[in-house]
Amino acid sequence: MKFFIRSFLLFQFLYSFSLAKGQSSLIDSLFHTDSIRHIVEVLASDSLKGRLTGTTESLKSADFIADEFQKAGLSSVAGNIGFFQEVRTGWFNVIGAIKGKSKAGQLIIFSAHYDHVGSINTNPYPWAGSQSGAEKGDTIYNGANDDASGVSAVISLAKYFKALNNNERTLLFVAFTGEELGLLGSKYFVADCEPDSIIAVINIEMIGRGSFSNSQPFVTGYEKSDLIDILNRNYRSLPGKKPEKNFFNIDKNINEFLFTRSDNFSFAVKGVPAHSIMVTSANDKYYHNLNDETKTLDFNLMKKVIRAIAIGTTGIITGKDTPTRIKNAF
Ligand SMILES: [Zn+2]
Repeated sequence: MKFFIRSFLLFQFLYSFSLAKGQSSLIDSLFHTDSIRHIVEVLASDSLKGRLTGTTESLKSADFIADEFQKAGLSSVAGNIGFFQEVRTGWFNVIGAIKGKSKAGQLIIFSAHYDHVGSINTNPYPWAGSQSGAEKGDTIYNGANDDASGVSAVISLAKYFKALNNNERTLLFVAFTGEELGLLGSKYFVADCEPDSIIAVINIEMIGRGSFSNSQPFVTGYEKSDLIDILNRNYRSLPGKKPEKNFFNIDKNINEFLFTRSDNFSFAVKGVPAHSIMVTSANDKYYHNLNDETKTLDFNLMKKVIRAIAIGTTGIITGKDTPTRIKNAF
């Protein structure tokens, strides 16, 4: 009920937002299914063996992401080793930045985890997910949706915001390690930063596979801050959109506790408006399954979602919108 009342109140502000034509065409020219797919294909390839934290393949994955950050023109953050933040020996978060023009001390984080659970022999949670339907002889948890899809989104958004070049706040693009082992990369990040300086965390998880009932994104913990309202209001400002139509939905998977199960939660417990944007729930048939492979993803869907995140965060990037802090993450 609360959500609908708030949506209604926001209705009156709809026409005060309009998206510049330049931004609209930049979106169309920068978000391509080919480039989105390429990043997923590399990270989810068999040669990276399921990106288990602490392995050589995990380091190769981090290197690839750092190269993409470099190509996108991101800067490194002081105190890190280039784009790498050492979480513990051989474990690295990958972090790139675009400095804010007038509010550089205020940070917006776009994140996703790049680690996954490795292979049949290394999966720390062999009981999780369905193990049926895999091809004979397949032993690798490729993690295309979980969460190469999110990393692909983060890299795509980095390229877009760098080209757009209108961020008043500082943007950080972060690929976390150790998520599957207990949100370890993000916990380290949070312990090493000043949470009050973080205005919002947009964590992107499993956006590559829709289902019969749901092929639009939802926001985990949506009721804990007003981020979802900001995303929808900015999204609806795109020319041609029906103003009453929300794109970002509430999370209906209440029994799955998705808000607490990804890296956003490490920030939320410190009061930061930090949510995950997801399309696929953990009830998905290929969740932690050997078939979570590139070929099972819908790249048109991913493009739509990434594009919506780019538009939905406009006011946060320019400093116009500030989501409310989270008072109780639990
Ligand atoms: Zn995940």
